[in-house]
Amino acid sequence: MSIVSRNPSTGEIIKQFESYSDEFVDGLISNSYFSYKELKKFSINRRTKCMMAVANILNEESEKLGKILTQEMGKTHKSAIAEIKKSALGAEHYAVTAKDYMADEIIKTNALKSYRSYQPLGPILAVMPWNYPVWQVIRFAAPAIMAGNTVLLKHASNVTQCALYLEDIFKRAGFHDGVFQTLIISNSKVERVLRNENVRAATLTGSEIAGSSVAAICGQEIKPTVLELGGSDAFIVMPSADLEKSAAVGTIARTQNNGQSCIAAKRFIVHAEIYEAFKEKLIKNFNSLKIGDPMNSETDIGPLVNPSSLKEVLDQVKDALDCGAQLLCGCKAIEGPGCFLQPGIIEKIPMSARIYREEIFAPIAGLYKVKSIQEAIELANDSPFGLGSSVWTADLDEQKQAINDIEAGATFINAMTSSDPRLPFGGVKRSGYGRELAAEGLRAFCNIKTVSISE
Ligand code: NAP
Repeated sequence: MSIVSRNPSTGEIIKQFESYSDEFVDGLISNSYFSYKELKKFSINRRTKCMMAVANILNEESEKLGKILTQEMGKTHKSAIAEIKKSALGAEHYAVTAKDYMADEIIKTNALKSYRSYQPLGPILAVMPWNYPVWQVIRFAAPAIMAGNTVLLKHASNVTQCALYLEDIFKRAGFHDGVFQTLIISNSKVERVLRNENVRAATLTGSEIAGSSVAAICGQEIKPTVLELGGSDAFIVMPSADLEKSAAVGTIARTQNNGQSCIAAKRFIVHAEIYEAFKEKLIKNFNSLKIGDPMNSETDIGPLVNPSSLKEVLDQVKDALDCGAQLLCGCKAIEGPGCFLQPGIIEKIPMSARIYREEIFAPIAGLYKVKSIQEAIELANDSPFGLGSSVWTADLDEQKQAINDIEAGATFINAMTSSDPRLPFGGVKRSGYGRELAAEGLRAFCNIKTVSISE
């Protein structure tokens, strides 16, 4: 079966790849296992040197790799370069901090000496999405490899060139062949990989359906998993907020990456006192966005990833309007080749509309009016998801209430939700479980071994 990379700006096929055979995949898994044994013998300093080389190559080749990202999944070239440079920082972060994150922790007991030791698990399967095709991979692979694990990457089928490029970077950086390997397979072959006894754990970033399938198989196989799934993040704006700034940041938070980000602000929950003023600013900002060729440095928004994604979003919009919601701007497909959509805003969304509960993976904002912080938090929590949240208020009591009561993996006050290698990242509820980044991201795939030495 062939796996296809298609340019979402033009609809043209860029490249096709033959899927790896089962036998070839088995060989790669064995290679991963032997490489894990080898990597365990690498000193942490040697791993650091190689990971710094990964960071350097990412920086040096951000233009070239960025073009591949733009061609394969449609993000603007400037945002592709920013993603690759951020990935370089992520690799550098773990190159520098892994030693501390993995240091033995002495715990006083009755034994002569006892401590917590962090040891690798072995080969780990990473099932990754196309929306941040470099960052999502590096934020898992850098800590996992620094901890001594090896990586088998099953990347989304539309970004295979990017997956192979990453494999090549790890080799050129000095890691031996089996440390980071790409598996060119369809999603139906993931189960076979998970059931291989040499694969010790899995991580998946993607949709709920894919996450629950991988978790169910790993449950049967008693293998640990980390799941980073969808989100429908709230962006709450209260009367004391800086309206100009919150509307400007809110526009970026909703439309970055062509609106296809898990932690994008998807539901704008605005206090009645400032609702009309905020709405006006948001509409003005959305209407000024430039949509078009993602290679053009003037472009703010490129195409959605593929025609089925565009159709799904248009169906969600139609459903909301049929249920009684009101269109404020945009939300229409742009005629011509490619999967282009006008960014848009919808208000008065009833609970019966699909987008009241579903994630909308496109530059489309839902606006909701509330009368208090309490009501805003209740509405924010009335979602199956719990990934990020962003709250705009100068009132310290409101800030405290939001931090305590919003059911999400992160709450950002007077800033948009973002990921940072120094801070843990992940969700609750149907947004997944486990954490990436920071010390948690490295320890997620460690055997936390208890060591107790007596006389
Ligand atoms: P997706 O369809 O679930 O694909 C993600 C990955 O899972 C791809 O590699 C895909 O392979 C694979 N996959 C799909 N179905 C599978 C199955 N049944 N078993 C095993 N693997 C399977 O997700 P997407 O639509 O590409 O990505 C968008 C979603 O990811 C959104 O919901 C977004 O919010 C979420 N996301 C979450 C985070 C986070 O950190 N929480 C970050 C980014 C994105 P194929 O391509 O071959 O189908």
